Amino acid sequence: MNFKQEMLYFGKKMVQEKLVASTWGNISCLVEPGKILITPSGMEYDFLEEDDLVLVDFSGRVLEGRRKPSSELLMHIEIYKNRKDVTAIVHTHSLYASAYAASRQPVPPLIEDMAMVVGGWAEVSEYALPGSQELARNVVKALGLKGAALIANHGVVGVGGDLSEAYKACLLVEKTAHIGLATKILGTTYILSDQEVELMRKTYLTAYGQKKGRG
Ligand code: 13P
Ligand code: ZN
Repeated sequence: MNFKQEMLYFGKKMVQEKLVASTWGNISCLVEPGKILITPSGMEYDFLEEDDLVLVDFSGRVLEGRRKPSSELLMHIEIYKNRKDVTAIVHTHSLYASAYAASRQPVPPLIEDMAMVVGGWAEVSEYALPGSQELARNVVKALGLKGAALIANHGVVGVGGDLSEAYKACLLVEKTAHIGLATKILGTTYILSDQEVELMRKTYLTAYGQKKGRG
């Protein structure tokens, strides 16, 4: 799949898997240095076509496309500027993660898949208005070097070296937020230690799955 096909695929997937409601959330890829392909603002993912995607530069100037780019463009730009390892971003508004975001509590590393992909707690950014430069700055701060963060009273942002990784980060933060709330009913919550998380993250990056150059 090329970048455009992948973006349409993950857009539909995040609606199907209930990570967003209707047109909210957004997706981008760094297609070449300084050029970002991003979803248009406020359009239904089920009907998106390749021509609806917008190519922009780091100043927000539209280079290709006739649609208005996502209203969270500043956040996407700020993340790419600050994280040289990131070439794909997915932003979702999923239910349980948004509950944590609305109570401004971080999602702890409770489960190995999330610990591997996020690399620790999904911290909550300080509150700022959607679409603002302030939100962009706050999200970069909350992300640090990790794979995901919560946006206060808003949702989740997942980042990675490709769309599958960024999407997975959002999905696993949602899954872990759900588990976190369930453990509150069960009565005890064991949070993985920093050392355990570090070990899992390392295993994930170096050995998990089908690493290139094997076999
Ligand atoms: P767009 O539809 O403009 O991408 O915005 C949705 C959203 O999630 C705003 O935070
Ligand atoms: Zn949003």
